[in-house]
Amino acid sequence: MSFKEIFEQHKWDEVKESIYQKTAADVGNALLKQKRTLEDFKALISPAAAAYLEPMAQLSQKLTQKRFGKTVQMYIPLYLSNECTNICTYCGFSLDNKVRRRTLSEDEILQEIAVIKALGYDHVLLVTGEANQTVHVGYFKKVLKLIRPHFSMISLEVQPLDTDEYAELIPLGLNTVLVYQETYHQEDYRKHHPKGKKSNFNYRLETPDRLGKAGIHKMGLGVLIGLEDWRTDSFFTALHLDYLEKTYWQTRYSLSFPRLRPFSGGLEPKVEMTDRELVQLICAYRIMNEEVELSLSTRESEKSRNHCIALGITSISAGSKTNPGGYSVAPESLEQFEISDERTPAQIAELIRSKGYEPVWKDWDRFM
Ligand code: SF4
Repeated sequence: MSFKEIFEQHKWDEVKESIYQKTAADVGNALLKQKRTLEDFKALISPAAAAYLEPMAQLSQKLTQKRFGKTVQMYIPLYLSNECTNICTYCGFSLDNKVRRRTLSEDEILQEIAVIKALGYDHVLLVTGEANQTVHVGYFKKVLKLIRPHFSMISLEVQPLDTDEYAELIPLGLNTVLVYQETYHQEDYRKHHPKGKKSNFNYRLETPDRLGKAGIHKMGLGVLIGLEDWRTDSFFTALHLDYLEKTYWQTRYSLSFPRLRPFSGGLEPKVEMTDRELVQLICAYRIMNEEVELSLSTRESEKSRNHCIALGITSISAGSKTNPGGYSVAPESLEQFEISDERTPAQIAELIRSKGYEPVWKDWDRFM
């Protein structure tokens, strides 16, 4: 059965109602179990679990240390382009935001890389908007060949591609692809993506399947928190992850939980998630799944990042710029969103060490 078929068997309103009906007893049972179901996950993200935050945090920390040790991986985004032919209501790169666009040339990319390497990074996340005329598979191939000698880990967060296109990029050093569904609420998805290829909900929903078929090493999932009820969207993320792990078991997975941030042209969140609720979600994901990597970006505030690091997070960015050329070439170009935690990579590494954890700059080498 494809994920689309599984997804269609779950009605948003019914899922939401069942999450909100979970009781303290359901949460207690979920915490005691060795192996948990998606019904247990619903209990852990429900309002009833708010009173269990302390035991959830302790269990999450223990499970994370058991699987990952006391380590946190460091990564940094490199924005290659802010050109985009989509309208997304929550993004500074949206087509209807009338500002100057740019795509980095090879020389400009090398200049940006020099700054990033000097910060100590060996894992880079390449980011673009969706502009198939300029930022296409041919461009990604060129960029991968250019930067591969400089990084041992390369991730990509760009428009969804076809299976054969991913298969062409993987041998060039592509390790990880992040593709966020934004929201699993179909009607709201349509509202937030009124124009461009991204308005095709199903093509995006099936992207992880195409990645799995292409044999990607790792993929990252998530939703943009603030567009819809975060508990229901998180359940659908967990449902998607569950399906993918069973279907493409050779692939590793990571989850992110970005909260809507201010940007040029700004959209207010429909639903607010508090810092305590963010901690609850992180712990719920970890308690449900001991293997999945959990990632926290500079979208989050200093305070909440300080707090979350030892509770289940396994990778973190620092010193990020969200505009193409932001590190040296064009610091004033249009940014995708304002970052919240502006501390340097060295400061974040020191914070991680101060909690008794080790910042990991280099995760692995590809021998080929
Ligand atoms: S979210 Fe992505 S696709 Fe949408 S406007 Fe921003 S860059 Fe373009």
